[in-house]
Amino acid sequence: DVTAPAALKESKATCCYCGVGCGVIVQTDGAQVVGVRGDPDHPANFGRLCTKGSTLHLTARDALQQQARALHPEIRVVREMERERTSWDTTLDFLAKKFADTIAAHGPDSVGFYISGQLLTEDYYVFNKLAKGLIGTNNIDTNSRLCMSSAVAGYKQTLGADAPPACYEDIEQADVVFIVGSNMAYAHPILYRRLEAARKARPQMKVIVADPRRTDTARDADLFLPILPGTDVALFNGMLHICLWEDLIDPAYIDAHTEGFAELKRTVRDYTPKFVADTCGISEEDLVTAARWFGESKAALSLYCQGLNQSSAGTAKNAALINLHLATHQIGKPGAGPFSLTGQPNAMGGREVGGMATLLSAHRDIGNRAHRAEVAKLWDITDVPAAPGKSAVEMFEALRDGDIRIIWIVCTNPAQSMPEQKMIREALKKAELVVVQEAYRTTATCDFADVLLPATTWSEKEGTVTNSERRITRFKPVLNKPGETLHDWEIGVRFAHRLETLWKRERTLFPYDDVESVWNEHRESTRGRDLDITGLSYAILEQQGPQQWPYPQGAQAGRQRLYEDGIFATASGRAKFVNTVYQPVAEKVDARFPFHLTTGRLRDQWHGMSRTGTVAQLFSHAPEPAVVLSKIDMERRLLKDGDLVHVTSKRGSQILPAVVGDDMRAGQAFIGMHWGEEYVSGRGNGDGTFGVNALTTPAYDPSSKQPELKHAAVKILKAELP
Ligand code: SF4
Repeated sequence: DVTAPAALKESKATCCYCGVGCGVIVQTDGAQVVGVRGDPDHPANFGRLCTKGSTLHLTARDALQQQARALHPEIRVVREMERERTSWDTTLDFLAKKFADTIAAHGPDSVGFYISGQLLTEDYYVFNKLAKGLIGTNNIDTNSRLCMSSAVAGYKQTLGADAPPACYEDIEQADVVFIVGSNMAYAHPILYRRLEAARKARPQMKVIVADPRRTDTARDADLFLPILPGTDVALFNGMLHICLWEDLIDPAYIDAHTEGFAELKRTVRDYTPKFVADTCGISEEDLVTAARWFGESKAALSLYCQGLNQSSAGTAKNAALINLHLATHQIGKPGAGPFSLTGQPNAMGGREVGGMATLLSAHRDIGNRAHRAEVAKLWDITDVPAAPGKSAVEMFEALRDGDIRIIWIVCTNPAQSMPEQKMIREALKKAELVVVQEAYRTTATCDFADVLLPATTWSEKEGTVTNSERRITRFKPVLNKPGETLHDWEIGVRFAHRLETLWKRERTLFPYDDVESVWNEHRESTRGRDLDITGLSYAILEQQGPQQWPYPQGAQAGRQRLYEDGIFATASGRAKFVNTVYQPVAEKVDARFPFHLTTGRLRDQWHGMSRTGTVAQLFSHAPEPAVVLSKIDMERRLLKDGDLVHVTSKRGSQILPAVVGDDMRAGQAFIGMHWGEEYVSGRGNGDGTFGVNALTTPAYDPSSKQPELKHAAVKILKAELP
């Protein structure tokens, strides 16, 4: 720990990377951030930080990153020209007129907003209200669609609400921890440190990891199940089958607190150990051991992430795992429960305000007439449109097809992060107007921007975020806004006021003096809902530190764990078993495309590297992109470490060095998700696309609409050098 010299000022914030939501103490000298350290009082991390968190100050003061900042509004009126610097008044007047004209000619669904789990809850709230309340379109979706929407759908279908029932302390109290589709050691490092410490303190604790790759997390496990990609539902149904046969379910709990078990029981009868072991590519013995450990333990906790979510069967995977918890009563008690880990710092906050095409404020649904009426009353408008808006992939398809004409992208980089890059880039080129609201002018998406709106970023913003365990942290800015940047919520409000003037609205829907007044309105929208925070305030968050929801009026503390009374958030109060059936991955491997490609995070990088990409020490772990193959496949193809190969799917091709990884099974390939055009030495993919998402498929889950970024069929051929 570093104690700040007298001239330095210290302020509390949260790390802006993953959904663990670690507290940091930021040191500034008035002009710039000079250091960070873990906040010893923050209940997510108790002072610890990982490599990314502990270098936050370097990203904040990095000269290259400062040069990359968007500091002034810019517009281009003709596509082929460069954008030119302009004023906020000119830019927002232009935008309001363009939106009003387009909506008058083509209706409110001719515009769309694509926002981000990096935004603060208040930013999210304003943009959601702008689209659904003022403009009258549900075409607002978020990059959390690529990250958490299957977890949302899974929770809602089974437990009745999008509310992770467990908490971080459960890691310390579990007897069995089942990690599925998550390389926690890399993607949620500080939670993983908590798990390591808990295992030391309680050596009887067992850890099971199921993952197609033998990741660092898998290497540490007591039992590793190297399942084939996409076979998770078969695994969970198979474990339930064994628990049924061995009397490891809890019939009294099932009778008292759930419904729909009889149908699921008939389905899982077919998931015999042999069938499941063959389907998943694991041994029957290991499958039976996993089921026994899970079913026999006093408290089993499942931790899961994108391996379940980024799948064309993502909702079924989430539901099948929750089925297993319900049948064995591994929920609603200390150390037990299904616990989805959020990828982004505020994916949870976005879900709370309903910042998706299918959701409304405070976990309400667009498809529910009563919910729409409640939100219309709260916002003092006649109605909220009933038809769901376009989800992430659908929005870009609609842009390509001309059904959406204007897209406003906030704090995210779809030209790198969305699947099927060729289609996304074609859509951005075909749009009548692309508005990009960003802190950095160097993202791949900025190249497509007709209007660039400069926004503040970490250490400059004020507001709240919610981490994976439903814990809300408030933080204040530690630096002044640079250049002419504005906070994201402010940009939305200033634009809304102009649109209201053009539409001659007598009273504004956005009467906010400051960010707290936005949060207060959001808080009121939660009254009586599962996430009720009417007992919380900025003052309480400031005085008492981060708090978990729900925190209703009169409460003295938030609720650590949900459903301890066995009453669920469904209409009947009973949890629902979903009849989950295994479906293979959307794109099967075949003779032409024989490799299963999976994608994922590396230890020290974050998303598209907008922040981490200029910090030299974060490249020591993985200096450049590569495709990782098994030793067998390298030898079969006469490849040496570093040889260049073409990795090709039905949608695109990428040239990368091949490296051998002892974490890979034969027939599988892995590429880190982070590298885009700035970091591939100008090599690119030869077709205007960059990075692994040239290869990935836009196939998505029918319920959650989350794309299958975790699997594509590819071929790999040695590149001929000129
Ligand atoms: Fe930041 Fe996540 Fe690391 Fe915590 S674990 S310091 S939130 S990146």
